[in-house]
Amino acid sequence: MSTVVSGRLAPSPTGAQHVGNARTYLVAWLSARAQGGAVKLRIEDIDSPRVKPGAAEQALTDLRWLGLDWDGEPVVQTTRLSHYEAALEVLKRAELVYPCTCTRSDISSAASAPHAGEEVTYPGTCSHRCVADAFAMQREGKLFAWRFRVTESVPFTDQFAGEQDIDLNRAGGDFVVWKNQGGPAYQLAVVVDDAAMGITEVVRGDDLIPSTPRQLLLYRVLGLSAPSFAHVPLVVGEDGRRLAKRHGDTRLSALRDAGVKPAALVGLLAWSCGWLDRPEAITPRDLLPRFRLERIPAKPFVLTAELLRALLDQ
Ligand code: GLU
Ligand code: ZN
Repeated sequence: MSTVVSGRLAPSPTGAQHVGNARTYLVAWLSARAQGGAVKLRIEDIDSPRVKPGAAEQALTDLRWLGLDWDGEPVVQTTRLSHYEAALEVLKRAELVYPCTCTRSDISSAASAPHAGEEVTYPGTCSHRCVADAFAMQREGKLFAWRFRVTESVPFTDQFAGEQDIDLNRAGGDFVVWKNQGGPAYQLAVVVDDAAMGITEVVRGDDLIPSTPRQLLLYRVLGLSAPSFAHVPLVVGEDGRRLAKRHGDTRLSALRDAGVKPAALVGLLAWSCGWLDRPEAITPRDLLPRFRLERIPAKPFVLTAELLRALLDQ
C-alpha cells in the first residue's frame, strides 16, 4: 500500500495573516495536492495571552480567499487539552521531564550570553529535580513549567533545506513542553496533533528549523511516527527583516479590502517561487502542474515597496 500524503496548514490566530504566511500556505497546499494528498487545517490557539479575538475566523476567510481548501473540519488546539495532558504523563512516567521554576530573566542571567541571532541555552538550573519533586512544589503553590531533558540531538534531512544537524545541547538545551501558567508548549502540542491528524509532510517557514530536532525527539520518546519536513524561506522587507508594519500593510485582509484579486497575489508568490516567469494572475489549482519545491530560491523573498505597489495598482 502506498502511503497517502497528508499535509497541513497551521495558522496561529495571534495576529493577522500576511503575505509571508500566504506564501508558506501556498507551498504547503501545493506540495500536498500535487501528490494527490490531503490538506488538513489546524488552528494553533494555545498561546492564549497572544490569541486575538476573531483572528481564527479571519485566517479561514483569508485561506479561502487565496483559493486554498482543506479536508474535514479544522482541528482546534484548545479543544485537545486531554491529548496533550496524556502525552505529558508519558514523559513524566519516563522521567524525561522535570519541574522548572526559572523565569526568563533567571535563565538569561545564568546562561552565557548568546551570539547574535542565537537563542539562550537553558543552563540546566533545575535539571537535578525529578518528577516527584513537583508534588511538594504544587503544595507550596510554586509556579513551574515542565522541561524536557535533552539527551541527544536528532539530525534530519529537510526536503527543501537539506541536511540539518543542530546540537540541541548547545542550541537551546532542555526545552519547555508544559508552560508554568498551564497548558502545552508549542513543541508538544504540534507533535501530538500532527501525529493524531496523520500528517505525513510538514511544510512551514524556515524560522522553525530549530524546532524540528526537538519535535523529532518528542516523536521518538512518545513512540509516534514523524512526518517529513520541508522548511521554506520567509518573505522579508527591503531591509532584509521579517515582514512587519514598517513594510506597509501586507495583511491579506487589507489587500482584499484594497481590491487586490487573490489570483494576482498568488501569481506574485508563484513568480517568487520560480514557477512563473512573470507575476501574472493564476489560481492555486492552475499552479499544480507547475509546482516544484526545488525551484524555490534558497534566499528569502524580498517584497519590495515597488512589488507591493504594483500588486495594489493591478
Ligand atoms: N502556527 C505556526 C505559525 O503560524 C506554525 C507552526 C508549524 O507549522 O509547526 O507560525
Ligand atoms: Zn529551571
